[in-house]
Amino acid sequence: MEKVLVLMHTVEGALPPAALETLGLAQALGAAFDGAVVGAGAGAAAQSVSGGAAQVFAVEGDAFAQSRYATDAAACQALIQASGAQVVLAPGTMRFARALPGVAARLNGAVETHVVGLDESLNVRRWYYRQRMEATLARTARPWIIVVEPGSQPAAAAQAGAAAQTVAVSVETRTEVTGVVSPPADQQTIRPDAPLLLVAGAGWTKKQKDGATHTDEGGNLILNFVQRTQSSLGSSKSLVDLSGEGQAVLPFLTHLHQVGQTGSTPRHRKGLATCCHGEEPHVVGWRFISERRAVNLDAACGWARGKADVLYVADAFEVMRELEKLL
Ligand SMILES: Cc1cc2nc3c(=O)[nH]c(=O)nc-3n(C[C@H](O)[C@H](O)[C@H](O)COP(=O)(O)OP(=O)(O)OC[C@H]3O[C@@H](n4cnc5c(N)ncnc54)[C@H](O)[C@@H]3O)c2cc1C
Repeated sequence: MEKVLVLMHTVEGALPPAALETLGLAQALGAAFDGAVVGAGAGAAAQSVSGGAAQVFAVEGDAFAQSRYATDAAACQALIQASGAQVVLAPGTMRFARALPGVAARLNGAVETHVVGLDESLNVRRWYYRQRMEATLARTARPWIIVVEPGSQPAAAAQAGAAAQTVAVSVETRTEVTGVVSPPADQQTIRPDAPLLLVAGAGWTKKQKDGATHTDEGGNLILNFVQRTQSSLGSSKSLVDLSGEGQAVLPFLTHLHQVGQTGSTPRHRKGLATCCHGEEPHVVGWRFISERRAVNLDAACGWARGKADVLYVADAFEVMRELEKLL
């Protein structure tokens, strides 16, 4: 089998879980492999996982500490050339998703994204059409950069070994990174690593049994639950569309929260859907939620038709109020 390069980057000086998952995939192949790391503390990070690797390389320094296309692409190109490996495995992080297709073009090679499996004959399995279809394919183009979907592989146990060889890269940049702007932690409601996903549907905005809407109370119940349990918040398309149209709904929801065919496909151990009907275009986004429960007034809703493990036929306002007391 061809030699493989596992190309990784650091996040705040350490390797992120997605890097260790990519390393796990390389180890499972049983092929000879090199390791390479770019970013702050790349040398130490590369050495921390170099056990079992033929050679390890690192690009570090102030210019490479930040994610930026020009410097990341130059560093990755240099690392691939230093190794000489023609098959490159890399984690599908935001940083690499941006830089690696360009690197493949610079090296006259090919890139594969959203890869969820690879065998010894270098057949990759990847998704198409929002994870609804999976294809198996191979390529003769080299170098071939295979970008591995985070969360799709078991992580390797880090094993330290030889020190990394430092690769010098000089690159001129016109882009200066001045900082990162992100919402305060208590306003951040999308938490990919949380064990539980809470999904809110349009039912929260509908007239309830007293003939009135209680959207504000619904919003408080949802936010309190999410903050107390540190779960991740998702939404149905109907609910985020209502917010986008300027109606008085749940102001903390954006299209980034939308789960489903035209939204996201998050990975969580458990999911709880509230006031959401459980229609196929929504539930297809639950493909990687292992245990599914739903609360709906309607015993004939989509969840009841084999889409949830447990359906509570109940008023979600009452259920969430009780949950709040328990919490
Ligand atoms: C091409 C295409 C792509 C799509 N992509 C997506 C997608 O990515 N994601 C997505 O979500 N949808 C998607 N949809 C839309 C999808 O088909 C549904 O229209 C949508 O998911 C419905 O949202 P909902 O369940 O929140 O709202 P509704 O269908 O309005 O359901 C509200 C539910 O709340 C329940 N309810 C009301 N009050 C209470 C209460 N007090 N307690 C408990 N339950 C209550 C009601 O019984 C009802 O079942 C797509 C559709 C198409 C055609």
